[in-house]
Amino acid sequence: MSLEEKTSVRTPRLFVVSGPSGVGKGTLVERVRQLRSHIGVTVSATTRPPRVGEKDGVSYHFLSDEEFERRVAAGEFVEWAWVHAHRYGTLLSEVEAVLGRGESVILEIDVQGGLNVRKIYPDAVLIFVDAPSEEELERRLRGRGTESEESIALRLQNAAEERELARSYDVHMINDVLEVATDELLATLDTYER
Ligand code: ADP
Ligand code: 5GP
Repeated sequence: MSLEEKTSVRTPRLFVVSGPSGVGKGTLVERVRQLRSHIGVTVSATTRPPRVGEKDGVSYHFLSDEEFERRVAAGEFVEWAWVHAHRYGTLLSEVEAVLGRGESVILEIDVQGGLNVRKIYPDAVLIFVDAPSEEELERRLRGRGTESEESIALRLQNAAEERELARSYDVHMINDVLEVATDELLATLDTYER
């Protein structure tokens, strides 16, 4: 932790970062966390199969449909949603563990999830990240090389709906040049933690 981070007094906040698949949320959050080590993240649960290189309990808690359902029924989720034909959810235990340590946390979740988080944590700060253009979004999604053609089509199709739903988000930003977007996200976090 830098001297600046140690000496500044911060108000812990719950941040939600949402945006179309492939816009660069994961990349941005990872960069921001390297520069603001006091900010925690949570590991979501999903029924989607792991991608090559993804580890259970690190990338996600990869659950069967039955296990996901059991945890929904047990009230273990702050929110959960169907996203791109699979279920994804934020575990209450994960969020409370970070907030309980007096740390801010960033949830990287879809827009439906973000709006549901706001119902439980009304002070949550909802940030929507978009791409400079539809073409660039598709280029990034393809460039990542993780999705089938079917999955790419579904993710691009869902982007429009996410934009519409995100109109009530607190902050809207564009991830064009990565360094610039990183600075903008850092400035947003700093502002709300003041
Ligand atoms: P998301 O988490 O929103 O699905 P990722 O963080 O996985 O998106 O990013 C998708 C792809 O776009 C990755 O290959 C990443 O390296 C790339 N990327 C992220 N931000 C930028 C940017 N500003 N300019 C160009 N490529 C980017
Ligand atoms: P991916 O399959 O690319 O890892 O994630 C697809 C989408 O699921 C992304 O938009 C991501 O924000 C969303 N997502 C990831 N975790 C959660 C979660 O816990 N809850 C909700 N609602 N969405 C999530």
